[in-house]
Amino acid sequence: MTAPSYKRILLKLSGEVLMGSQPFGIDPEFVAEMAQEVKAAKETGLEICLVIGGGNIFRGMAGAAKGMDRAQADYMGMLATVMNALAMQNALEQAGVPTRVQSAIEMDKVCEPVIRRRAERHLEKGRVVIFAAGVGAPYFTTDSGAALRAAEMKCDALFKGTSVDGVYDADPKTNPAAIRYDTVDYDTVLADNLKVMDASAVALCRDNSIPIIVFSIREKGNLARVLRGEGTQTIVQKGA
Ligand code: UDP
Repeated sequence: MTAPSYKRILLKLSGEVLMGSQPFGIDPEFVAEMAQEVKAAKETGLEICLVIGGGNIFRGMAGAAKGMDRAQADYMGMLATVMNALAMQNALEQAGVPTRVQSAIEMDKVCEPVIRRRAERHLEKGRVVIFAAGVGAPYFTTDSGAALRAAEMKCDALFKGTSVDGVYDADPKTNPAAIRYDTVDYDTVLADNLKVMDASAVALCRDNSIPIIVFSIREKGNLARVLRGEGTQTIVQKGA
């Protein structure tokens, strides 16, 4: 397989990967490890947009399930993603990688608002841009935020780093016979309701022809391998 050549990518990390082996929250040691992965990817010459989830701190659906108003809970989830973005900015800058955070919920004491043209300029100058607070609206997830920013920043691909190593035809945690796809079509993902990203994120990537590469970020060095077209991964794309 020839290595695909990307110039600009969007990397989506679920909030869970920042908690390391803790059951909740942020483990600075683990964030530092993630920052090293991002740094190594950046040193290959890539422009990197980063989106980090908030599931390690708060998920709107979980709040709603316990009786909270869904929109209110979702805003809390969005604030959680800002905390994660700031933690990652700290780790990246300590590793020597210049970084800017842009939040879809304005918070001018701690970060910039999302301004596409300014984000372009940051990328040109070699900075990693972390987009926080998803799309800035409740009833969405950071996966949709990632798809939206990948489209508006014209990224060549969306890399989803998570705790599973790809997309399976059933849940591999409960079904040992589940089979991992190497490649799969957007429409199959949507029709079979495969657990990759939420449907609005997959549809946005499909409509803008952005391939989604799902891989495990938990293995050291895996992001670099996947960027070279190696390692275990699933590519969601057209006509696969
Ligand atoms: N959220 C939202 N709108 C967005 C992005 C996030 O309402 O555009 C809220 C939602 O409640 C979500 C939470 O923020 O559950 C944390 O994000 P997510 O669940 O996507 O985090 P991940 O699973 O990637 O860690």
